[in-house]
Amino acid sequence: MITRLPTLALTAILVPATILAALGYVTLRQWERSAELLFREQARDVAMMAAGKLDMVMREADKGLLSRLQSALTRPDLGPALDAWRARASLVRDVYLVDRTGRLLYPTVAKGEERSVATRILAHIPETLWDSGGQRELALGDQIVLACVVRSRDGAPALAALVRDVEAIRREILERALGGLEAPTIVAVMDHADRPVYSGGRLGQADRIATAPLPDVLPGWRVAVYQPPGASPRASMRRQVAVYTAALGLLLVVILVGIVATYRVMRRESEMARLKADFVANVSHDLKTPLSVIRMFGETLEMGRVTDDATRQEYYRVITRESERLSRLIDNVLDFSRIEGGRQRYDMVPTAVEPLVRETIEAFSYPMAQQGFKVEVDIAADLPEVVMDADAVGQALANLLDNAIKYSGEQRQIAVAARVEGEQLALSVADRGIGIPPEEQARIFEKFYRVGRSETQGRRGSGVGLALVRHVMEAHGGRVTVDSRPADGSRFTLWLPVRARGADA
Ligand code: ADP
Repeated sequence: MITRLPTLALTAILVPATILAALGYVTLRQWERSAELLFREQARDVAMMAAGKLDMVMREADKGLLSRLQSALTRPDLGPALDAWRARASLVRDVYLVDRTGRLLYPTVAKGEERSVATRILAHIPETLWDSGGQRELALGDQIVLACVVRSRDGAPALAALVRDVEAIRREILERALGGLEAPTIVAVMDHADRPVYSGGRLGQADRIATAPLPDVLPGWRVAVYQPPGASPRASMRRQVAVYTAALGLLLVVILVGIVATYRVMRRESEMARLKADFVANVSHDLKTPLSVIRMFGETLEMGRVTDDATRQEYYRVITRESERLSRLIDNVLDFSRIEGGRQRYDMVPTAVEPLVRETIEAFSYPMAQQGFKVEVDIAADLPEVVMDADAVGQALANLLDNAIKYSGEQRQIAVAARVEGEQLALSVADRGIGIPPEEQARIFEKFYRVGRSETQGRRGSGVGLALVRHVMEAHGGRVTVDSRPADGSRFTLWLPVRARGADA
């Protein structure tokens, strides 16, 4: 179940996440489409509105211009009257006045060039205008001409051709009419050759989205509405998609991290449950073995079957050794449970190291001798007394010796050493046994942990010995280290701070 959990969880998350992402994308696309439509519609409205406003303003300006022109024409002195009118008509660059025969009435003193311009303009005026009257806008090359039939002083019709001043139109009409326009878009006015005459912003990278012509007042010109780069619904949709994707990604990462963490916790828990079950089985087995030995030897002695004294002595020793092993085992389990419950107390007193080490080794002398172990003891002379709980440290050392015996193979050699290194007392137990693979060396100090079953198969143990050793060392402000190579042996060292020196003095 636990191994299938990541796959299940992954499916349970990825499927809804994919659906969510797809739905989100579709919704955003729809939103983008309708926003795009709305945006274009609004832009069209803006263009129409601007065109309408320009049309109105221009018409208004033209109306004033023409009525003033008409009144100037009623003056007897045509030349100076029109000169005066022209000086006020800023929107007009040139003005020509011709009669129906094509005679140039104004400018009164015309240069040849002016005459030809006037003739050219005249050529574009349809005959009907003379009869119908009124006005007409003409685009002649780059020039925009307002042609209108006026009455001269004698009542005869004359044609006035006003050449518009584009720069003045930009300045006085376009800028004034469109300058105050507030819109997220850019409003521009393009001339007949699609050159911008006026623009409310930089057109560089902007996209044209709507236009509206100005046919009546400025032929060939039109209002164009642009969207600045990044302001389009598509660009904001891209930004939204990026934000949503990032948020979704973050969410997925958080969920995945959660799953991985939960999975690891669950695996640890299930491993712990397995280790605990193993522990109970191992402890029971460990208790049973010495008990059956004690019982067997006790019964044999009780029946009085052993007649010679030496054998009897041997049997007594076996019973003592096995009961010692039993109490060590029970001590280990009890201490472990006290440590787990946080009830363990240590009785710290200055202790002589050598007697403690020798007594501990002594407790193992019989089994070691029986199994043919060679024990080398190297205790430095003049070791200071060290503040410690002698029982706890003795028990830790006993656990190391017990392991050294248990995990030795053919090479039955054990070396115990005690020396001072720097500010620390180092108590080491080295064997030439099966060793510990490097990747397991950190884990062997965890409670219930035992190296792979094949290695420890047939060897008694509960997996709490080294956990206890580590706890005792830490309680003393020291530590335990291991130096081991598989098939070559292990050296466990207990490091205890030497604080007794000052106390000695
Ligand atoms: P156990 O009761 O299993 O001996 P310990 O906590 O004392 O529990 O040791 C944990 C594990 O560390 C052991 O199961 C064994 O695999 C490994 N180990 C401990 N001491 C030695 C050693 N001297 N040589 C090889 N392996 C060892």
